[in-house]
Amino acid sequence: MTQTLPIRIGHGYDLHRLVKDRKLILGGVEIPFHLGLLGHSDADCLTHALADAILGALALPDIGHYFPDNDKKHKDLDSRIILNKALSEGKKLGYQVGNIDLTIIAEKPKLLGYIEQIKRSLSKTIKVPKDRIGLKATTNEKVGAIGRMEGIATFAVCTLIRIED
Ligand code: MG
Repeated sequence: MTQTLPIRIGHGYDLHRLVKDRKLILGGVEIPFHLGLLGHSDADCLTHALADAILGALALPDIGHYFPDNDKKHKDLDSRIILNKALSEGKKLGYQVGNIDLTIIAEKPKLLGYIEQIKRSLSKTIKVPKDRIGLKATTNEKVGAIGRMEGIATFAVCTLIRIED
């Protein structure tokens, strides 16, 4: 039996393709843009990376295990449901989110004006105050697939802290 850790750290990464006729949703916020993210769910890659970071911190399988992309009932799924699943798995094992730090890599649109709104949205979903949520957006300096606006990538790290008995 391993010792119960007071703090666990997790890391997540995701990328979705940018295409026409899809919504662009990041962290549960719809962002006006002429392209959106392609995926089986709502394709919210920021929320996916965060859910994977939480599951990773718990040493559990990734979100594809819980929400297979060939399951019709997950079509256009609100990714906050995926995030809530990761949180409830954490709770079951006696952990809650400590803080999170996220990075979005998108050539366009400019996301600076949406940072606060996305933080508010995530704060509400994961029930963690905004001062424990880091969120940055950067471009890829026109380099590679992301630089050509073929997709948006996201990174997430989180800590989970042991819930006091
Ligand atoms: Mg994904």
